[in-house]
Amino acid sequence: MNSEIEPPTTPVGQFYESYFDQAAEVSRLLNIKLTKKTWSGQRIHMCGFPLMHLNKYLKMLVQEHSRFVAMCEEFPRNPALGAKGGFDRRVVRIVTPGTLIDEPFLNPYENNYLLSVVPASTELSLREWPPSFSVGLAWIDVSTGEFYTKSTTLAGLRDELVRVSPKEVILDARFSEDDSNPVRRAASEEGCFVSYSTPPETPSALADSTATTQASPDDVTADAELLDGLLPVPLAGEETAAVELLTAFMHANLMDHMPSLSSPAREVTCGRMQIDTHTVKALELREGMREGGTTGSLLSVIKRTVTSSGTRLLTRWLCSPSTSVSEINARQSLVAFFYTRPFLRQDLVQVLRESDDATRIVQKFLLGRGSFSDLSALCTTVETWSSIKERILTERKMEGEGDSLADAQWTSVEALMDRMSDLSDLAARISMALAQREDAIRIGDEMGEELPSSEPSPAQLRDPRNPLGLVEWTIKPEYSQQLMRLHDTLQTLLSDRDKLEQRLQAEYNVPSLTLRASPGQGMHVHIGRKREAAKLRDAKDFVPLSESGSTCTLFNREWSRLAGQISETTLAISTAEKEAFEQLRAEVVARSSDLRRNARIIDELDVTLSFADLAVEMRFVRPTVTDGTSYHVVNGRHPTVELGLLTSGRGFTPNTVTFTPDSPLHVITGPNMAGKSTLLRQTALIAILAQTGSFVPADHAEIGVVDRVFSRVGAKDDLFRDRSTFMVEMLEAGDILRRATPRSLVIMDEVGRGTTVEDGLAIAFATVHHLLSVNGCRAMFATHFHELADMLGHDPATHRGEGPFSPIAFFCTDVDEIENGDFTYSHRLSPGVNRDSHGLKVAQLAGMPGPAVSVARSALAWLKERSAQRVGRGVELHALGQSLAFDSP
Ligand code: ADP
Repeated sequence: MNSEIEPPTTPVGQFYESYFDQAAEVSRLLNIKLTKKTWSGQRIHMCGFPLMHLNKYLKMLVQEHSRFVAMCEEFPRNPALGAKGGFDRRVVRIVTPGTLIDEPFLNPYENNYLLSVVPASTELSLREWPPSFSVGLAWIDVSTGEFYTKSTTLAGLRDELVRVSPKEVILDARFSEDDSNPVRRAASEEGCFVSYSTPPETPSALADSTATTQASPDDVTADAELLDGLLPVPLAGEETAAVELLTAFMHANLMDHMPSLSSPAREVTCGRMQIDTHTVKALELREGMREGGTTGSLLSVIKRTVTSSGTRLLTRWLCSPSTSVSEINARQSLVAFFYTRPFLRQDLVQVLRESDDATRIVQKFLLGRGSFSDLSALCTTVETWSSIKERILTERKMEGEGDSLADAQWTSVEALMDRMSDLSDLAARISMALAQREDAIRIGDEMGEELPSSEPSPAQLRDPRNPLGLVEWTIKPEYSQQLMRLHDTLQTLLSDRDKLEQRLQAEYNVPSLTLRASPGQGMHVHIGRKREAAKLRDAKDFVPLSESGSTCTLFNREWSRLAGQISETTLAISTAEKEAFEQLRAEVVARSSDLRRNARIIDELDVTLSFADLAVEMRFVRPTVTDGTSYHVVNGRHPTVELGLLTSGRGFTPNTVTFTPDSPLHVITGPNMAGKSTLLRQTALIAILAQTGSFVPADHAEIGVVDRVFSRVGAKDDLFRDRSTFMVEMLEAGDILRRATPRSLVIMDEVGRGTTVEDGLAIAFATVHHLLSVNGCRAMFATHFHELADMLGHDPATHRGEGPFSPIAFFCTDVDEIENGDFTYSHRLSPGVNRDSHGLKVAQLAGMPGPAVSVARSALAWLKERSAQRVGRGVELHALGQSLAFDSP
């Protein structure tokens, strides 16, 4: 259990209260009043807040202060068991950041994952854990039921932590005492909220069955085979252990709310592009660096999804693009299909907007929660699914068959629709049952077709005559014979009441007489004009109850009996409605696999529709993705920078990048601010977008599948972890050189900048040398060490390296001089090496005082002259480069 405090929040009447020391802590965290109360003769601290503010304060404690909150509920004592009344209180659940179920503060656009990490063996001493040591992962989103496992290595753990982005990480309690534990360090250095749990001594049934029956595909896995690279194979031992640790933690905290779990889907590394932790952050895939949150991120720029679950899928795809050409093509075909059909796209997006988050609703029902409004939302959602299918069918009919090109385009969308289960019977059943549903929008409405208006329900939803007040029925009477009978009885009783009222008014000639009920006086007869009451005073059927200035109330046996029958019938209807709800809940639960699968397919539809919208809006093209190792992007653009420039009325300069097996490595030189870093990032982003299934910002693109994207860009100080900028740079560069494969894409910006010129140049050369001779990957290396070009044997005629460095191509960016000595950045990439950093121009532009600039200018002139006198330095460097190249293994 976490060592954080766990304020027990206990309802006492209309308040949740906290006592003792925890009250002081809770009142401080929530900024609510701390008071004292006498208990067993002592004055103790207490604080509390009204029940209705629970969610607001839970959010503060759990999400803002990362505290665990033990929720106590009160249960009336059962007199049948000899109890004398009052309440028992017990903890029903401990709310933690990773175990949220349906709290309104759950972010609908993000998964709320709880992730456990278990190394293959805890027997070995820490020093014996090599980077290749296996580590099991299991993660679940309690709010949606999505449940996965994966086996990775200690070295790959950080990348997984960043990709999954869990809200809480569970580790073995034994790790809590040892802060040098590498798993624990990885989690805390990646900024994860860490909790500890004790693994169960006897393996849970689930973990057991998971290991052996994984081949029985659950809904997710069945889809996953086609869509997500998840395969039904037995779990590795460390994955089973991770599932056990995860479920032990869930049992201990969710308690009464523990969901019944289906088998997890197993993720395998092959099939997914690996994006390492620095790259997810440096490329600002999910979160922007400057403004925090999603602002400025790739996600925020490309997001056109209209459902929350579609957005969650988009985020998952973006951080885990595919490496399967057929899967990428399948997604692209859908995008291409919608791209060319704007009206269909508009209609489908319109319908999608009406749908709700079925995955989360189904999970609520599986957890024994959910309300009538959830049922109604689910029904509307299932209806939107049917509308989507219908609309697609109509399109098919309108287009007609026989055109082989068009028929081929239809294959992917038809395959997607075919995988959807028909749940219209479930929707019809819920719709027939629910009394207060607004009819879901159907496409016909938009197209101006006449749709039959729904029949008004014969049931009186609100009946002011009911002595129990305004009762709103939630289930239609025709749902069951029993409800029908009860509603008939109620109607008869209510008309008996009207007749009785009229009869009494006439019999005693008291027109202001009405039959009423109130909590204080029970069933009574109300006389609006007191003087009329005199006529009833001696009537044997009436007993005076009370009087006010102008009115009086009396008791009447006949009304009292009739009203009793009305309330009994009303209560019977409420009970029958609750039973009906339970029945409907059970029907939803029985179809939960189908519901989830459909929801997942619709998510995919939402994402591919959104990609089509994006492609139209931002002029993206369909890339050709191949199994080769080329990369040819004509006039590529950086989507985020382009959008930023557009909003300030400026244009983006597109650039062409071509890597081939003969020329996999580019060295880029150029002044600061001339667009090197933007070019590097856009090169990686275009590959990521392409493998997500999206079109890309370019005029033309052909991309050989990238297995891993690595980046070393944007040096950021890491003083928190006691590492200098240079140290971070070297750690990241070292990691890349160890891990990049011939299928990887590497972007490196200014490696070697954080040290002396000699050190820096030596490191930059060694890095390029290693990338070319050992990794053999596609790489873009931006540098301001133009001497590097000499070492690599830059040939001014071909702008290629010499000898073993001939696969290296040199490109540069530059500034355009304009008349009065001013200059502009062209941001255009051209072959060559730029030996002028224009540093002084930038300093001048940045507002460095004139005298300082002129001193710098004199110094630079002297330095340049000196180096010009040292003829042959370039030649020496060239010779050094060649000798090192031949020396190397
Ligand atoms: P460098 O890495 O060479 O210092 P950056 O890539 O950081 O340069 O670019 C600096 C700024 O120049 C960017 O913030 C952007 O506003 C602008 N920029 C970069 N590339 C382009 C381009 N291709 N077209 C237009 N503006 C660009």
